[in-house]
Amino acid sequence: MDITYVSSEVVPFARTGGLSDVAGALPKSLQELGHKVYLFMPLYKKIKQGPFKLSPTKGSLSIPMGNKTSTGLVYSAPLPGTRISTYFIENTTYYDREGLYQDPATGKDYKDNCERFSFFSKAVLETLQVLGIKPDIIHCNDWQSALVPTYLKTLYKDNNSFRGTASLFTIHNLSYQGLFPKEDMPLTGLDWSYFNWKQLEFYGKINLLKAGIVFSDIITTVSRKYAEEIQTAEFGVGLEGVLRERTVDLYGVLNGADYSVWNPEKDKLIPANYSLKNLKGKKACKQHLQRKLKLPQSDAPIIGMIGRVASQKGLDLVMECWDELMKEDIEFVLLGTGEPNIEQALKSAAARYPGKASINIGFDNQLSHEIEAGADMFLMPSKFEPCGLNQLYSLKYGTVPIVRSTGGLADTIDASVGFSFQSYSSKEMLETIKKALKLYRDQSKWLELMKMGMLQDWSWEKSAREYLTLYQKALAKVKGA
Ligand code: ADP
Repeated sequence: MDITYVSSEVVPFARTGGLSDVAGALPKSLQELGHKVYLFMPLYKKIKQGPFKLSPTKGSLSIPMGNKTSTGLVYSAPLPGTRISTYFIENTTYYDREGLYQDPATGKDYKDNCERFSFFSKAVLETLQVLGIKPDIIHCNDWQSALVPTYLKTLYKDNNSFRGTASLFTIHNLSYQGLFPKEDMPLTGLDWSYFNWKQLEFYGKINLLKAGIVFSDIITTVSRKYAEEIQTAEFGVGLEGVLRERTVDLYGVLNGADYSVWNPEKDKLIPANYSLKNLKGKKACKQHLQRKLKLPQSDAPIIGMIGRVASQKGLDLVMECWDELMKEDIEFVLLGTGEPNIEQALKSAAARYPGKASINIGFDNQLSHEIEAGADMFLMPSKFEPCGLNQLYSLKYGTVPIVRSTGGLADTIDASVGFSFQSYSSKEMLETIKKALKLYRDQSKWLELMKMGMLQDWSWEKSAREYLTLYQKALAKVKGA
């Protein structure tokens, strides 16, 4: 199959979160299974400054955007460690900026995001034609590329280059919808007739995620549980009705873990490697983490957390029972960046417990590996979690997950490998942590639990095969139409 994979971020080129990890790994797996894959993403400033060797292509873009025309070039580079061509859409006005979607200086979304990603989506379809690539399937992700399937069914509907091309659209997080004022409509190039409540309109605004849901042949999200949850008012963020309309075409496919990056046996970012058979290195990793973060070199279990500092991640539960938690014989390590008020609250809470809690604000890949390896437990009390990746990494690193049972966390963590709680309450969370601490005191039982997790295989291959089945379904739909 010829597969075109479109994502606004791909590791190692550009990364703000889970989507980029997926976009850097799934195409690799698809190619290993014998398929031809092309990747598309915008050419951000950081990529130009990076170590990547970009080559020009014959792609040259000239796209009408409202009452002007925007131009750009297309570069390519192999996805490191593979022979997959990644095509970078260049337009200096749109992408030569410090952030991907937001100005890091203000934390505010760029005002022209609708324009930036409309251009990107059209540029993908234009470039495919220039390069003579006729994909069987175009796999798009989140609101940033949601207009690709929309264009396929509208502006490019009669274009011969895309006859028989099907689309699959993956929602990585329903709470980021790409909402824009209706005045941006001309920039999308779509006729105003599409601005209605069945298609692009959402309470008077343009909703790009909704467009992706409405126009794609198949829709997926990143766990079975989340696929069910988002069809309810509690998790649907206003789109539950639209999703229920498409329930027969909506599937959950769990993300995998990229074990070429996240594997304690080979990880170059941790001070000592270890494996199921020889766990000695894990102790060295713990001591290293304690030294690095100026925590006492004690045997008390380290509870780790890594992630965006956002209300989704359940940090309010941690704050609610903070003093109770700090009474326990533990050390607490957090790495994250996000909402400034939550960051501040965490920092002042930790300041009251020097030598016990270490709050690290920032995005730090090195430290994230050191925490996965050095911590004993990994806490994810998310309010909702489409898939979650850190619990999968934690399993591999023998760092026992403690999770709230929602979305992908519910699909991956059961009592055989970790601890989970149901209701979103700090009381339940604390009780569950205490259960874990109790078991930790019985080191032989704890070791058994760790090893059960380390034995599990959450690699991409199984999920890649599920996507291939869905690509076939999408193709059959297009052929049948
Ligand atoms: P989400 O996509 O909701 O942010 P995921 O768990 O799916 O959450 O993926 C987040 C990814 O980003 C993980 O690989 C995690 O390790 C990484 N990550 C998040 N925050 C940081 C940070 N501050 N420093 C380093 N890595 C981070």
